[in-house]
Parts: sequence; C-alpha cells; structure tokens
Amino acid sequence: MTRTVQPSDADNADIRPSLVGLTRAELQSVLGEMDVPSRQVRMRAAQIWRWVYAHGVREFDAMPNVPKSLRAELIGRFTLDRPEIVTGQVSKDGTRKWLLKVPSNGLAKASEIETVYIPEESRGTLCISSQIGCTLTCTFCHTGTQRLVRNLTAGEIAGQIMLARDELGDWPGLEPGSPDNLPDGDRKITNIVLMGMGEPLYNFDAVRDAMAIANDNEGLSHSRRRITLSTSGVVPEIPRWGNEAATMLAISLHAVRDGLRDELVPINRKYPIAQLLEACRNYPGLSNSRRITFEYVMLKGINDSTADARELVRLLKGIPAKINLIPFNPWPGSEYECSDWGEIETFADIVNRAGYASPVRTPRGRDIMAACGQLKSASTRLSAKERRDLASSPA
Ligand code: SAH
Ligand code: SF4
Repeated sequence: MTRTVQPSDADNADIRPSLVGLTRAELQSVLGEMDVPSRQVRMRAAQIWRWVYAHGVREFDAMPNVPKSLRAELIGRFTLDRPEIVTGQVSKDGTRKWLLKVPSNGLAKASEIETVYIPEESRGTLCISSQIGCTLTCTFCHTGTQRLVRNLTAGEIAGQIMLARDELGDWPGLEPGSPDNLPDGDRKITNIVLMGMGEPLYNFDAVRDAMAIANDNEGLSHSRRRITLSTSGVVPEIPRWGNEAATMLAISLHAVRDGLRDELVPINRKYPIAQLLEACRNYPGLSNSRRITFEYVMLKGINDSTADARELVRLLKGIPAKINLIPFNPWPGSEYECSDWGEIETFADIVNRAGYASPVRTPRGRDIMAACGQLKSASTRLSAKERRDLASSPA
C-alpha cells in the first residue's frame, strides 16, 4: 500500500518526512504499511529503532541487518533528518546554543527555535524547547514577548536531543566532536530539562511522546529521573504528566503572594498559588528522593525580601522540595534588575535553614543570550491576512 507523503513545508525542498520522532507503535504501524511480513514487523521496528535512537545513524544504508529492499523503501519515504542548524554559538564558559530552523507550515515567514547545552565537570544538561514562542506572557521572560507560532512536533523535540548528540559526538563509540569543556564520563548529555522556549504542558502529547523516546532504554536511554519538565503552572495537566510521563517536575513559582504572581506569571490568575501547590502535593511518585524543584527568579526589590523567603518556606511545608534561586538574566528591553548578591545569599540562607536545598543557579551562557529566560527567536506568527498573502505568493 502506498502512503501519500504530504510536503511538510513549502520552503523545504525535501518533501519526505523524518522518521525521527515516531514512537515505537508508530514505527511499527508504518512498517506494517510497507513490504514487511506481519510476523517480522516488531523485529524490524526494534532493529531500526536501535539504529536510529541508540546509534544515531543518519542514513538507512547504515543499517546492515535491515534488508536492502526495505532500506530502499524507507529511503523513498523518509529521511532521518534533525532540525536544521542555522547558527551554533559557544559561550566563554563552554555553554553552546544552537538556533534551529523548523518548518513554518505557512504560519510564519521562518520558524526558529533554540536549544542550549550546559556542560559542567561531571554532568551536561541539555535545555530543549517545546514551542515556537509562548502563549504566556511572564513579564520577566524574553520568550514571553514572542507570540506563539506553533507547537513543536515530537520529532522536533526529540530531534533537538539527536542533533545535540551529533554535535557533541555523544553517540556510543564516537569520539566527542569538540572535546573542550565537555564533562568527564562517557555521556556528554546526562540531564534533559524542558526549560527552553515554550510552556511544555501546553504541548502535552508531543512532549510526552518525545520524552518516551528519550527515555526508552533500547534507544536514547535518558532516565526519567534525569529529565525535568518545567511548567509555569498549568494545574490540570500536572497530575496527567505525572501519570503519563513521570519525569521530575519543576515549578516556576517566582512569587509567594497571588497579587504579585498574577503580575509576574499571569497564568496565576487562572490557577492561583494554593491550587498549584495542591497539585504539587499530589504529584504522582513524589517522595524525599523525588522532590519537586521550585524555581524562583531573583528580581531586585520585587520578590527578594526576607519576608518573601519566610513565606516561601511556610507555603512549601510538607512538600518534598528543593528551591532553585535563579539570578534574573536581563534581556534587551526588560524592566527588571537582578537582586544584589547579598540579598540572594540572605534569601538562600533562610530557605536553607528551613531544611531545603537552595542552590543558586549560576547564570550560564549570558554572553550568547543562552541563559534562562533569554531565549527568543525572530520567528513571528503571521496574521491571517499575511498567511493568505504568503500562500498565494510565488515560492
Ligand atoms: N515555560 C516553562 C519553561 C521555560 S522557562 C516555565 O515557565 O516554567 C525556564 C525557567 O526560566 C522558568 O523558571 C522561567 O520562569 C525562568 N526564566 C524566564 N525568564 C527568566 C529570566 N529573564 N531570568 C531568569 N530566569 C528566567
Ligand atoms: Fe512562557 Fe515560561 Fe517564559 Fe512564562 S517563563 S513566558 S511560560 S516560556
């Protein structure tokens, strides 16, 4: 049976879709439609899966145990492409940021996202995006000034991990591409955080499928305990995420009173602090060894007083938690300033003395605008009229 493959983007010359991002079940169903005897479908899917996700091969012809005829059929229909790199930057501190191009689907002139890799001595964290832009408008966040263009697909989300592994030489048996500033140890990406552009719980299914791919131990093999989803507080999706994806959770709290949080994190008007913390208390699998991280951006004179610190401790009582204090990272046009170091230390001390780990997140990659909340791409969603004009204009 032939499957008609639709072009995924007018400005993309290759109309074959990428196989990257298919779940196991989807891969089996694709093979079921191809010239593969039904009793072999599972076995072939398992072989291809390993080549794609455990070895990172980029050509179907690099899969010697897959019959030649099947490889030819796969080549005719699919690629193994990752998102395309527009630019790659390396910060003085070794942080890397890639600007990636993804299809616009007629919604914007160009669609770009950012992925950031943060190496430390014994770990490497990959920060990935879930949406192009964001529908929310947190006042201290650069991404929040960029209207949502669209959700990323599971392939584009998992593709960010694949691409970073390509760039870092982080596939089994490969020598790291550029060995400077990479962590010790076999794996260069040890942790994944959904803290790039977008609100991941507003793109639930694609993010869940991509994390299932990331977690699969016949493939990319990232433990769920080393994957963290950060949310601004989409309360109804929190229990669902715990049940269906079971990764670690981070909450962008940033304020301890509803009035201020309404302003800083406007989703608070819909789901206020009490509801958010109730969802946290009930997060499936929560325990002292699986704590929730509360992120708290330090804004000078806004949310950084000792009274705020004490109220934070009171609010979190009974929730296995750690508190991540994030020095505010400025961006062009931002209204806030980062709290003074002394203020941050006093705040951390109060939280610490109450028994919570309260690491202050060292800003990384500020010189290349790669730090938390600095990500933004130039992609803007077009109005309905602009989209019609774009569709009718010659390529
Ligand atoms: N949308 C999700 C995940 C992406 S943001 C969320 O809001 O949780 C990742 C973290 O960076 C969030 O805690 C966010 O509040 C924080 N952040 C945003 N802008 C920032 C800035 N300018 N400086 C420091 N942290 C910021
Ligand atoms: Fe969106 Fe998160 Fe930025 Fe808020 S902090 S605007 S939810 S990306």
